[in-house]
Amino acid sequence: MKKVSDYFGANVFNDAKMQERLPKPVYKALRKTIENGDALDISIANVVAHAMKDWAIEMGCTHYTHWFQPMTGVTAEKHDSFISPKGEGEVIMEFSGKELIKGEPDASSFPSGGIRATFEARGYTTWDPTSPAFVRDETLYIPTAFCSYTGEVLDKKTPLLRSMEKLSSEAVKVLNLLGKTDVHRVTTTVGPEQEYFLIDKEMYDKRPDLIYTGRTLFGAMAPKGQELADHYFGSIKTRVSEFMHDLDAELWKLGVLAKTKHNEVAPSQHELAPVFSTSNIATDHNELTMEVMKKIAEKHGLVCLLHEKPFAGVNGSGKHNNWSISTNTGENLLKPGKNPEDNLQFQLFLAAVVKAVDEYQDLLRITVASAGNDHRLGANEAPPAIISMYLGDDLGALVESIIEGKDYKSHKAARMETGVEALPDFKKDNSDRNRTSPFAFTGNKFEFRALGSSLNIACPNYMLNTMVAEELKGFYAELKDAEDLDSALKALIKKVLTEHKRIIFNGDNYSDEWVVEAEKRGLCNYKSLPDAMEHYIDKKNVDLFEKNGIVTEAEMRARYEIELEQYAKLLNIEALTMLQMAKKDIAPAVMTFAKELSEAVAVKKSVSSSLSTYAEEQVLESLSDKLEEFVKKTSELDKAVKMSGDYTDDNLALAKYYRNTVFELMQELRALGDSMESETYSEYWPYPSYGEILFGV
Ligand code: ADP
Ligand code: MG
Repeated sequence: MKKVSDYFGANVFNDAKMQERLPKPVYKALRKTIENGDALDISIANVVAHAMKDWAIEMGCTHYTHWFQPMTGVTAEKHDSFISPKGEGEVIMEFSGKELIKGEPDASSFPSGGIRATFEARGYTTWDPTSPAFVRDETLYIPTAFCSYTGEVLDKKTPLLRSMEKLSSEAVKVLNLLGKTDVHRVTTTVGPEQEYFLIDKEMYDKRPDLIYTGRTLFGAMAPKGQELADHYFGSIKTRVSEFMHDLDAELWKLGVLAKTKHNEVAPSQHELAPVFSTSNIATDHNELTMEVMKKIAEKHGLVCLLHEKPFAGVNGSGKHNNWSISTNTGENLLKPGKNPEDNLQFQLFLAAVVKAVDEYQDLLRITVASAGNDHRLGANEAPPAIISMYLGDDLGALVESIIEGKDYKSHKAARMETGVEALPDFKKDNSDRNRTSPFAFTGNKFEFRALGSSLNIACPNYMLNTMVAEELKGFYAELKDAEDLDSALKALIKKVLTEHKRIIFNGDNYSDEWVVEAEKRGLCNYKSLPDAMEHYIDKKNVDLFEKNGIVTEAEMRARYEIELEQYAKLLNIEALTMLQMAKKDIAPAVMTFAKELSEAVAVKKSVSSSLSTYAEEQVLESLSDKLEEFVKKTSELDKAVKMSGDYTDDNLALAKYYRNTVFELMQELRALGDSMESETYSEYWPYPSYGEILFGV
């Protein structure tokens, strides 16, 4: 067996390889770009491209691709070979600095939200040297950002990179003011925990709903779900364990720091968490992780489902975005330290996050909105659609003492005594977990827990970075001319925490009382994507992104249109899939079964009028009634889908129509279908059941 340390990063053009293969001055110049964001010279790019190509060819590559993250929500790639004709019928392998720096995929088929109707169809991808290139499937992958000919941002990566720069410059100013003059760069770090389902490929292939939409649109609950809590952290089945083993190995080769794996709450549900890294690398690695999961699953005759709610009645899948800020000097700015009551720097950054989350709670809700995630938020398995923050007992008490000007008594971390001589005692964490909170402080970072499992984490992170940068900018302006910095700091922290304490909630976010209480506090509660998205282009939000140079109003409007349109399209596909299943499979199956039953009745009666036909008739009667309702509901849904044509010139109205009319009918149709499933003999039912799928691996 090979040691992990021998092959970790084997497929990555990482720092060690750069150092080994690049001339010293080139390596140094590239490091400056990576660490400080300095501009890169074409002559440097030429040398880097050459070294990268040689390495890639040694790794068996024939092609390279600019890898980018357009607004479709999945990554995109266009492969070019390295070949270049030379002489008579011969080729050499070439790759220039220009090809490394710039790519030109035909942008016209990527969603642009109308931006490109008025501009050219041309789009460019630009090398992101801060995220290392890697090799997959005989191809050199180069992480890039994607923009239009006229410079409009068309991807998720560019705003993220800009927001990281912005947060860095604002935080550095504040830190320098506080006397930390050796800090010249601040980075945001992210560790995304990824949930997913693994199911058998043969069952998947029999379900059009899974194939077309990634979730089951019909399906009666199995007798057993997750109620025994026996899957969570349970022992991992052999087939799954083999999958996880291969997945880890593949991710490690790609330099992804895959760390933790375990079974999740629902049957067939699992989780993978990496060690955190800088936001942009974490984003690339999370995208890569999701892709590799799907590929490796295939090899094991499995399918990896990343949909937020593949199965009704058991938990869906999310993603936890663990987020923090640290300096080039290695300090985590969200670490309270031993005496948080005296740590004004920590308090100031905490205040910035509290203020940001309160003022831009709508944006945080918007950024996790998706057709899939709407099934989870507020459903007692994921945080509610109301954004609030959990600080825990210790920090909660500190904040209270600051607001009330009282002395703070730290509940110094207690020791955990196991009561068993042989077991070591250990220091307890300062705060317990609150798994119901959307945005929880967990010791030295915040865990944003409302993300859906398939979401590209670039979006929540660029929003988070930008809003915190904005608050730090305000703080700096307020503090920079202070005569007595210490008292100005204390006054500012007190003011901010007092004004924004409504966002802090340490209780049970799943309770009905919280919904009422949150409304009293004036917090927003947007239940679905259309409800939330409507506020994306509120002036306050447009100002935030425009002022900080992250995205322009035109780009935001484009994103707004794309999100709403995408939502309507997804619901449309779901509705059409349901209609197909209902008309072609479910109704005919029940009709066939009903016919068999009535024939059985007739046969019995022909044998002897005294034979009881009670059993058949009971089932037949119940099913016939339901079938009639089912067929009626099917045509209602059919009509409703056709009516969507009335809204085509207004994406918000269209999305709302799908949510309020089409989706509601889908739910009703499903209920009827599921109820028929539970009465129809298995051999007649056209699809594998929930029991077979969820317990089939
Ligand atoms: P849990 O499931 O209990 O919340 P995990 O250990 O599964 O915890 O995940 C915690 C995640 O937080 C890991 O990905 C970890 O690397 C990440 N993390 C830890 N410290 C930081 C930090 N300073 N910045 C960002 N992420 C962090
Ligand atoms: Mg977690």
